[in-house]
Amino acid sequence: MKKIRFYNPEDLRVEDAEIPVPGPGEVVVRNVVTLTCGTDVKIFRRGYRVEPPFDMGHEASGVIAAVGDGVTKFKVGDRVVAHNSAPCNECYFCKKGQHSMCTDLLLNNFENGAYAEYQKIPARIVNQNMFKLPPDMSHKQAALLEPFACAVYGTAMTTFQQGDTVCVNGCGPIGLMFIRMCVLRGARVIACDLSAARLEVAKKMGAAETVNIKEVDDQAQAVRDLTEAGRGVDAAIEAVGLPEVWKIAINMVRPGGFVLCFGGTKKGLEVPIDTTKLHYEQITVRGVFHTTPHYVNAAFELLKMNAISADDFVQNEYALEDTEKALIEHAAGCVIKNCIVY
Ligand SMILES: [Zn+2]
Ligand SMILES: [Zn+2]
Repeated sequence: MKKIRFYNPEDLRVEDAEIPVPGPGEVVVRNVVTLTCGTDVKIFRRGYRVEPPFDMGHEASGVIAAVGDGVTKFKVGDRVVAHNSAPCNECYFCKKGQHSMCTDLLLNNFENGAYAEYQKIPARIVNQNMFKLPPDMSHKQAALLEPFACAVYGTAMTTFQQGDTVCVNGCGPIGLMFIRMCVLRGARVIACDLSAARLEVAKKMGAAETVNIKEVDDQAQAVRDLTEAGRGVDAAIEAVGLPEVWKIAINMVRPGGFVLCFGGTKKGLEVPIDTTKLHYEQITVRGVFHTTPHYVNAAFELLKMNAISADDFVQNEYALEDTEKALIEHAAGCVIKNCIVY
């Protein structure tokens, strides 16, 4: 079979590899689609904290080609989607119900990447985070599971009431998913981005107002101006991963408001917070990372209901050999996501 391996920044190679054989409890999936993701773009450009060469890709859906001993929930021929991680359920954090903090979080994508014709799914993921597709669900729709599970978790961790105004900063795939989930929860959403095309999709997701940050001097003020008496939004979500935007999000909430910092930044960066805002204005700032099986399950149910649709999120198809092209086009921002088809 063929798969993509990362050797150096901007140096991905298509390699021949043995089709994996499932061990006890494991499953091997023949991928039908793999979606591109901003994280893949970041790794492609800068590398990662894993020693290269390593596999790439974590958003795929396919058909089971082989099952290992002891697998009872799935059989060969099942159309499935597997999330890319699973917690241990045994460490201190898992026992506290904070599964995204698991000290032994299993991430499948570096060893068994999704940019591959076949992908091995470890037992822990098979048991906790793998799902059979209903007959009317497309593989593209199913492959949205991982990013959507993160957005569903993030939205659940954001405090706001029905009828509140929420600003989503950043309209990449995850930001757009946040917009949709906040709208479904009853918020009036203001969307901020620098791409007019992405802001159009934001409106389609239900955003009531959009702010093109290229057209305003002060993003926080521009958002405040869209709230009653300029008091600020009830909640702000950061889905970009830049400390400047974390700061802007903090500066656009009303007294008593809530800020969710979702976008991961480079290591070691700091964001100054006005102590007056934190103390006298009693704002809450919360970070979240990744997702948990509870929200992966919820996200799969929401995908079944077509809470979001692959038609809005997945644009052009590429062959595995053209993964670099698919990632470069994704990075340029003219698509929300691309997909590899086999
Ligand atoms: Zn992703
Ligand atoms: Zn754990």
